[in-house]
Amino acid sequence: MAAGRACPICASASVARRPERLRDSNTIRALACAACGHSFLDSFGHVDEAYFVHDRFLLSKPFLEGLPDRLRHYESENQERAQRVGPLVVNKRVLEFGCGAGQLLDKIKPLAREVEGLERTRSFREQLIARGHVVHERIEESRGPYDVILMFHVLEHLPDPVAAIRASVARLAPGGLLYIEVPHVNDALLTLYDVEAYHGFHFFKDHLHYFSRSSLAEAIRRAEAKVVAISGHSRFGLANHLYWLKHAKPGGHMIWNFLETPSLFREYARALAAADMSDSLVAQVRVDG
Ligand SMILES: [Zn+2]
Repeated sequence: MAAGRACPICASASVARRPERLRDSNTIRALACAACGHSFLDSFGHVDEAYFVHDRFLLSKPFLEGLPDRLRHYESENQERAQRVGPLVVNKRVLEFGCGAGQLLDKIKPLAREVEGLERTRSFREQLIARGHVVHERIEESRGPYDVILMFHVLEHLPDPVAAIRASVARLAPGGLLYIEVPHVNDALLTLYDVEAYHGFHFFKDHLHYFSRSSLAEAIRRAEAKVVAISGHSRFGLANHLYWLKHAKPGGHMIWNFLETPSLFREYARALAAADMSDSLVAQVRVDG
């Protein structure tokens, strides 16, 4: 069935409505591109200036009370990210595109030669600047060149991900690295376990895009950059997945956290990545130089 919109990544007209409902809208639907496997919402109209600048998107996680609660919730994830990209940023000029409340910026600042952030949300930006960070509102304001640009779960929020990749790559030094992490449309809860309740949870208004390996590679290619590697990454492990199967609810990684031993998490993540069913994808992108 033609859905009346072309794929925002590969421009194919082979686009059909997905059967799933969004968790937070009865009017917006998710579409899927048959050519590149990309999924995306049939309307981006709700992502306006207020959404980015005035924190509206922060309200989309109702279980998080305020900023301190939010920081606690994401602390372990930011620790994991800092460990992962730490070796890449040593003595480098680094930009974090979409730095949020700055938890990762704080962690990599002692390692890097220079660190800057990019953040549309005004409250985050002002607070980070007050703490001595250099934080821009828009990519156009950043000077560069940067050796490394980090982009953790940013592209899925932006109406035009190709433009964001292109603007980032333009600010990389020769031989520089753009490190991208995004949600993966082929999440095992949807594709392997086929959890009925998850079909009404996976898609939501904050995420305009859900990348496949092909669509992420295509977005990078269209931005005239070179993919070095795309790999699967797991934010959630066995505890989260088993909890969905048993209780049809999120949060199992916190409630059944005794199941999340580091070695088990690692092996399970490795198996999901090999089967292309991780919940996230990581792309490493280079410009020639
Ligand atoms: Zn496509």
